[in-house]
Amino acid sequence: MRPTPRAETFPVNTPAASQVFTTVLSQGPLARLEVARRAGLSPAAVTKAVRPLIEAGYLVEDADEAARPALGRPANLVRVDGGRALFIGVKVTGDEIIGVLTDLCCRIRVARHVPLPDRAPKVVLASIADLVKELLAEADGAQARTQDQDPVPVLGLGIAVSGDVDRGEGTVRYSPFLEWRDVPLAELAAMTTGLPVTVDNDVRALTVAEQWFGAGAGLSDFAVVTVGAGIGCGLVVHGRVVAGAHGVAGEIGHVTVDPAGRLCHCGNRGCVEAIAGEAAIVRQIREATGVELADAAEAVALAHRGVAGAREVYARAGEAIGRGIATVANLLGPERVIISGEGLAAYDLFAEQIREAFVAAAFGSAAQCDVLTRPLPFEEWARGAAATAIQSFIRADV
Ligand SMILES: [Zn+2]
Repeated sequence: MRPTPRAETFPVNTPAASQVFTTVLSQGPLARLEVARRAGLSPAAVTKAVRPLIEAGYLVEDADEAARPALGRPANLVRVDGGRALFIGVKVTGDEIIGVLTDLCCRIRVARHVPLPDRAPKVVLASIADLVKELLAEADGAQARTQDQDPVPVLGLGIAVSGDVDRGEGTVRYSPFLEWRDVPLAELAAMTTGLPVTVDNDVRALTVAEQWFGAGAGLSDFAVVTVGAGIGCGLVVHGRVVAGAHGVAGEIGHVTVDPAGRLCHCGNRGCVEAIAGEAAIVRQIREATGVELADAAEAVALAHRGVAGAREVYARAGEAIGRGIATVANLLGPERVIISGEGLAAYDLFAEQIREAFVAAAFGSAAQCDVLTRPLPFEEWARGAAATAIQSFIRADV
């Protein structure tokens, strides 16, 4: 059995140390001078941050054999030792939970999907606890096979949930899809798993993964827009994922597109989500065609068959999403907007309308923002949750 509680902590809790570590994690291996340049720190500050991290085994420095000069020593490159620690990330959806075991470089070693029998916090928590146990057993099994001297510690668990999540408090304030209000998830999950727990909004967690390893790597300002059951948005401004003073930011799903429009579950009318969320699309197509659709997959199939009424619903949804994205571009001027989410299955049905509405509503050069689509499976969201756990581990201020 693994020892609990796991008390290992990051050796230096300074902003410079976490910045150096994150830079090497997302962009390494790098020479120290390059780390300094990219992190905007002095070489002396990098040396000061790197030393204890090398001593603790989180970073290693190897000779850069590829760049060996004809004379003298080759330059050294700093990289993260992925095998030094493990983390677990869990993404909770309405009907399943997806868990991944990652190394310190946030590379997925094992991924598991578990169906959720019920959305009640108690049931979800028990499923998370079982899944974590299974992933810990995987970690131990792999180590037994490799005959490691010391077991690699699992240093944190990240849980990503949709809705209004207070990461600092570890509380899910309101999750419409789970029908949760004020659930102290971090505290409850820490008690059942014995691990330090970070709870964050799922789109924000995905945004961390995109910032470190995905289409946002190296960008200081970008947005991730997810389309599916809900319409979500993660924002990175000046290199930081925006959480908002009250835990809510980037809620483009609740930008008003039509004040006299359909009622949204948030209580307002004509929100992007009330027009373009999956449930809204299914409802509108049912009304327009009279076909009793079971779910979004059937709605997509109907529209692909060219059934009158169904295509129009997708066209209006695309227009609403495009206007929502233009609102983000007008307010923040991101370099790039990454569109993802399970709703991408319908993307060909509304891509043109998204693009047209975006260009029409974006002001001036905001329209130059690069809009790209990127299918990201739920494992990637769970990986984002693991990234938030790594973030909490290395950062003093979150
Ligand atoms: Zn709304």
